[in-house]
Amino acid sequence: MKIILLGAPGAGKGTQAEVICNRYNIPAISTGNIIREALKTGTEMGLKAKSYMESGALVPDEVVIGIIKERIVKDDCKDGFILDGFPRTIPQAEALDKMGIVIDKVVDIEVPDEKIINRMSGRRVCEKCGASYHLEYKKPKVEGICDACSGTLIQRKDDHPDTVKSRLDVYHSETEPLKDYYEKQGKLTVVEGQEEIEDTTRLLIEALEA
Ligand code: AMP
Repeated sequence: MKIILLGAPGAGKGTQAEVICNRYNIPAISTGNIIREALKTGTEMGLKAKSYMESGALVPDEVVIGIIKERIVKDDCKDGFILDGFPRTIPQAEALDKMGIVIDKVVDIEVPDEKIINRMSGRRVCEKCGASYHLEYKKPKVEGICDACSGTLIQRKDDHPDTVKSRLDVYHSETEPLKDYYEKQGKLTVVEGQEEIEDTTRLLIEALEA
């Protein structure tokens, strides 16, 4: 199954992508995580992306399209994949279509802006493995430490409140039009993001298995 998860930054796509990844045994591909990894290892692509990412802007289409092209030909993608954070613009969605990738389902996780702002200010990520936590909704077992790899939990630079506001603006102008794009292809289902992660997961699975 080839799945796209749409939704504003902080709508919970990453967390849900992990759940589906385990349930269907297909990889979750997050362009954000791939870029952050490139940034950490200091590759040319990482350096190119750094300033865009830290200011809350989108990385240029050709860079992220290149990342996806390389990733989805890998062996683990042969039975499908979940795209988390790609596409984020109409040209990116068109590029996917041009690659001949047939997407089965697109699920949009809807969360109001005010809630997003609240969630993102409490989000913490592991600096080692990238796992995501929240000070209120998804606490680690030991404060400040990753359950999975014992790495240190930090706040992403782009989760700072002023950057969150610009990321939401970018989401509304560049990414939201994708709902219409996939609605027209008959692939879109909208799921309301719930307070409890498990409740959103249940709705998401219902949408995928409908
Ligand atoms: P995320 O972790 O998905 O919120 O992505 C973090 C940042 O990475 C975004 O704010 C962008 O700067 C960049 N990024 C990730 N995916 C894309 C994409 N598909 N198109 C453009 N920029 C992206």
